[in-house]
Amino acid sequence: MKFSGIQKTSLIDFPDRIATVLFTPGCNLRCPFCHNWRIVLEPKPPFLRENMVLEILESRKKYVDAVVITGGEPTMHKEIPKFLKKLKDRKFAVKLDTNGFYPQVLEACLPYLDYVALDLKTSLEKYPLLGAKDTAKLLKTIEILKTGRVNYEFRTTVVPRLVEAEDIVKMGELAKGAKNFAFQQFIPENAMDKAFRKLKPYPPEKISAFAETMKKYVENVVLRI
Ligand code: SF4
Repeated sequence: MKFSGIQKTSLIDFPDRIATVLFTPGCNLRCPFCHNWRIVLEPKPPFLRENMVLEILESRKKYVDAVVITGGEPTMHKEIPKFLKKLKDRKFAVKLDTNGFYPQVLEACLPYLDYVALDLKTSLEKYPLLGAKDTAKLLKTIEILKTGRVNYEFRTTVVPRLVEAEDIVKMGELAKGAKNFAFQQFIPENAMDKAFRKLKPYPPEKISAFAETMKKYVENVVLRI
């Protein structure tokens, strides 16, 4: 397993924990609002090798005992479950961020995970705008998380054009019965698609209205705006 980057300390990526964040190279999607597009489009060396990452984590364990794996898309790497096991063997709490398009790899990861954040980016009809023609695998992931035992959230970055009031209702139907749903503010600076860098983010009242709609489907809805 190799990584494109490491953020040694984060207070915001793992609910209620101080975590180290690891970034995996490459992604199957092309979200126009992506901030990590450099590691998505052209993952380049130098990569951090797994052994080096484990050494860093061990050396800082008295400060940070949780790890977030994000990307890119971590589950496109078939070797990720083995790496997660190594983290669990070392007693780290582990969270995985995923776009949900590799349900088989996710299932193999679940025994070693404490928390999963699944991006529900928009309604299914709009996924082609993100580069996904077929959403069957995403639907499978939603089902796996809803029926599984690992704590999870569905989360949405509220990007104007991609996420509108009618999308929220359709996303609510997909998320129905889920435990947690989080809305995140869209930050236009540095978006992959230059046209999205000019978009004005939604005002907080609009996002709160989205949250009210989502509360009809999901028990716990949080705003990160
Ligand atoms: S799924 Fe995530 S990493 Fe991949 S392109 Fe979309 S925002 Fe970027």
